[in-house]
Formats: sequence, structure tokens, C-alpha cells
Amino acid sequence: MDVAALLKGDRSALSKAITLVESRREEDISKRWSLLEAVLPYTGRAARIAISGPPGVGKSTFIDKLGMHLIERGHKVGVIAIDPSSALSGGSIMGDKTRMSQLARHPRAFIRPSPAGDVLGGIAARTPEVVLLMDAAGYDFILIETVGVGQSEFAARHLVDYFILLIPPGAGDMLQGIKRGILDIADMIIIHKADGDHLTLAKKSYQHYRQVLRLRTPSPTGDEMSLLSVSSLENRGIDQVYAKITEFLQRARKSGYLHNLRISQARFWFEQESKHQVLDILMAQSSINRAFERLANEIARGKLHYISALKAFFGEVSQYLHDCNRRARADSDHP
Ligand code: GDP
Repeated sequence: MDVAALLKGDRSALSKAITLVESRREEDISKRWSLLEAVLPYTGRAARIAISGPPGVGKSTFIDKLGMHLIERGHKVGVIAIDPSSALSGGSIMGDKTRMSQLARHPRAFIRPSPAGDVLGGIAARTPEVVLLMDAAGYDFILIETVGVGQSEFAARHLVDYFILLIPPGAGDMLQGIKRGILDIADMIIIHKADGDHLTLAKKSYQHYRQVLRLRTPSPTGDEMSLLSVSSLENRGIDQVYAKITEFLQRARKSGYLHNLRISQARFWFEQESKHQVLDILMAQSSINRAFERLANEIARGKLHYISALKAFFGEVSQYLHDCNRRARADSDHP
């Protein structure tokens, strides 16, 4: 793996590094951590921003416009986009070239689709590490697209400095559909598509959310949540979004908020990942794997209640650990 080329911002080195990091082959996994450790000293500079919202609200169009705005101000933009073929996104099969048409062609932008499946709360399992690689390659703004339905946004919150939620105009009672808790994790709410026929509804939505937000306690930074109305189609409001984000980042860096946020996020990812690793290792053991398949099969055929299956499975795992201990003791007795 050509780390020097990656650090210089070489696109093909970055692509290859991401592919390695996403690989689930056992021989790639140890290479994964070595590669990431090598680039770590060159990370931490990039601002990480989540863009969330239900399918069709205009996330990719907004990312295209915001990304171009950032590029025009001298930034390099990395995007982690939802794979449009993913069942989760409910998106069309258009591909990112057409979803983010301007950014996709720009040499200072790099778009990487999240692999479908294998997701942890709406973001792909390796997204945190893809962020590190983009950061090391010099992308100083990283935009992460997530689908804002159900639980998905909560894992993304642990990954980003700033969280933007896009809401379609007229969705006054949409908060029932979107988990209410999302208001507590968002830093900015955007009433999107505020143009043409949607304009009157967008104004109403804006008033509605103004009221809702008045009742809220301020975010951990003490900031009021920002509420903006934006049309990506007409490129209106994007400059305000940019101004709010940069203001926030400046303050959060100076006050130490960002530093502390990232430390608590690191703790979160360590916990998630270490548990996953232990799980993967155990499940890959043939006796455990065989027991799992057999029991799952019996449940599927209606032969076994899942409680009984869990009891049997627990017995299998305990037996495996017991055997490991016995072997370890025997090894230490006869070195
Ligand atoms: P996503 O599924 O959230 O990524 O949504 P898309 O960006 O693919 O947009 C869904 C549809 O909304 C497309 O037909 C866009 O052209 C349209 N759209 C996106 N942004 C705007 C906007 O600002 N105003 C209007 N009127 N339509 C928009």
C-alpha cells in the first residue's frame, strides 16, 4: 500500500486504501490496522458533517451544491454517499455520477459510496475508517450522507462534528415518522426545496419548526439549533449553511468542544469495534459456527423455540471457551 502517495492526495492510492480497509478477508484485516496507524498522524484536520433526511428530500442534490460551494472557497471535499443500489436508501439505481453530477466531475472532490449491507445504525461498518483515510489524503471537509429514518442517524452522530437534517416542506407532522430524538442530535435543520410551488408550504414549515425549536434546550455547545430554508435547485441558502458551519467549527475548535467531542467518539468506536471483533472471531470458530447454523436451521423449520436454541448455543460457546482454557493450561504446564 502506497502510503506516501495517499498522503499526497493520489486518488487511486486513496481508492485502494479504502478497498483494503473495507475488505473482510482475514489477511487484509491486520493490514487494515497497520495502514490506519501509519496515516493517523496526518489526520484530525478535516471537518466531518452528516447530511441526513428521508429518501427523496434532496440530500444528494444538496451535497452537490454545498460541496461545490466548499470547493470554490478553496477546500477539498470528500463524500461518503449512500450506495444508490442499497435497499436501505430506497434510492434509484442512477449511480453517484448523476446523483452528484458537479462534484463527481471535480478533481478536488472524491465520492465514495458506502457499501450496501453490513451497516451499523445506518452507516457502513467501516465508515469511521474511510473518514480517516480521506482526512489523511487532504480532504478537509468530509460529508457523510445517511438516511434519516429510524435509528440510522444515531451512529452517524458519533462520527461527525456537525449534524444537518433535511426536511421536506409541509412535513409538519413528519416528526412522528422521523424519530423525535433526532431534534436533539441535529445541529441544523434545513427546510429543503424552498422554491417554486413548494414555497408557501416551506414558509409554513419554517414557522412550525421555529415554534418547536423554541421549546428545546440548547445543544451541548450552548448553541441554538440553526433553522434555515434552502433551495438546492436554485442554489439559495447554501451560503448561509456554509457560514453557520464555519462559525460553529471556529468556536468549537477554540473552546475545546471539538477536542472533547472527538475523544468521547473515539471511546464509542473502540467499544463498538472491539465487541464486533470478539464476535467475529468467535463466530468464525468452526464448532460455534456449526452450532449456530444447526440451531438457526431448526428454528427456521419450526422445530425449536429460540429460547431453547439460545440455551444450547450458550452451552456451545461455554464449552469452546472451557476447551481453550484447558489447552492454554496444558501448554503452560508443558512449554
Ligand atoms: P435524496 O434521495 O435525498 O438524495 O434526494 P435527491 O437529491 O435525489 O432529490 C430527489 C428529488 O428532489 C430529485 O428529483 C431532485 O431534482 C429534487 N430536488 C432536490 N433538491 C431540490 C430543491 O432544492 N428544490 C426542488 N424543487 N427539488 C429538489
